[in-house]
Amino acid sequence: MCETAETQLPPGITPIGADEARTLIRHTSGPALEALLDRAEAVRRAVHGDEVALCGITNAKSGRCPENCGFCSQSAHFPEADAPVYPLVPAEEIVAQAKAAERAGAREFSIVTSGTRVAKEGELATIEEAVRKLRAETAVEPCASLGLVREPELVRLKAAGLMHYHHNLETARSFFEKVCTTHTYDEQLETIRAAKRQGLQLCSGGILGMGETPEQRVELAETIRELGIDCVPMNFLNPRPGTPMEHVQAITAEECLAAIAVFRLMMPAAHIFVMGGREVNLGARQHLIFRAGANGTMVGNYLTSAGRGPGETVEMVEGQGLSLRPPDTGRAWSFDGTAPSDAEWNRRAAEPGGKRALPVVGAPRGGCA
Ligand code: SF4
Repeated sequence: MCETAETQLPPGITPIGADEARTLIRHTSGPALEALLDRAEAVRRAVHGDEVALCGITNAKSGRCPENCGFCSQSAHFPEADAPVYPLVPAEEIVAQAKAAERAGAREFSIVTSGTRVAKEGELATIEEAVRKLRAETAVEPCASLGLVREPELVRLKAAGLMHYHHNLETARSFFEKVCTTHTYDEQLETIRAAKRQGLQLCSGGILGMGETPEQRVELAETIRELGIDCVPMNFLNPRPGTPMEHVQAITAEECLAAIAVFRLMMPAAHIFVMGGREVNLGARQHLIFRAGANGTMVGNYLTSAGRGPGETVEMVEGQGLSLRPPDTGRAWSFDGTAPSDAEWNRRAAEPGGKRALPVVGAPRGGCA
């Protein structure tokens, strides 16, 4: 039973089915790819206009995670992986970072924590306080990505002003056991359904290029569509040293673009965000994510690695004739049209203690992140 609401689509726009998607996702070169991109761009324009949303994140608690997601350098199962380790940062620090992200064009700001779930009352109280302050002191739409979550916790966070909950499915159910064995696909689905029951906007996608087939990418999109997800973050694996996926061959820019286009055509109403791996997998062609149908992307640093300067991201959007979508919180947005050259946040994750060199850009915003 489909839980999505693709009912408000403009005339002539109909989601494609899985059979057609499985064919199109293999259109990765030449005129067939060009035609696919043209079609996806037309759907994006018709449904979402020429606005692009930017999402900023902070890695609010990093490392020592008991889960074993094979792509993630924050897992305690992979001691060779180089990830920052620190406890939950104070609410004031989260809010200061959100203010910097807002000035750089962020519409949404997500508080991301490592771990299976937020189990300590003190941590939940800090996150609640941060959300309350975000609503009172900034215009950004607060999002949280706290791993598996139960309904009572969501009730408290929503009461504090939380607008979005993020929880990636990571991959297709048929490939999930190759990615993680310490929690189940069904536990993830229950978290997503609980957030939906609480009326939060849902943000859930995955990481492509972990060894799954193109058909399994379509399988993931089918699940996301059935869940009625509002925002779909698409990440592309940037293999992290020391993780089990360290030697996985990256998928090509063309495969990335075809997948984005197919997700757009399968879910015309969803907000498709291209997140981690944008720089590494797409390189000089990352601006083509919008032609492929994306209407959102990340601004600033990733969870455990540095991203492009915010000014470059804003310029990339505007260079495509697109503009930034403002938040819907009703507060005045502090973004004045250009990202300040010194805008930076989530520095702690990218360079813990000031001693760790910035790693290669593009670590996925995956898992609990
Ligand atoms: S993705 Fe999240 S849940 Fe999985 S190991 Fe990393 S921090 Fe833990």
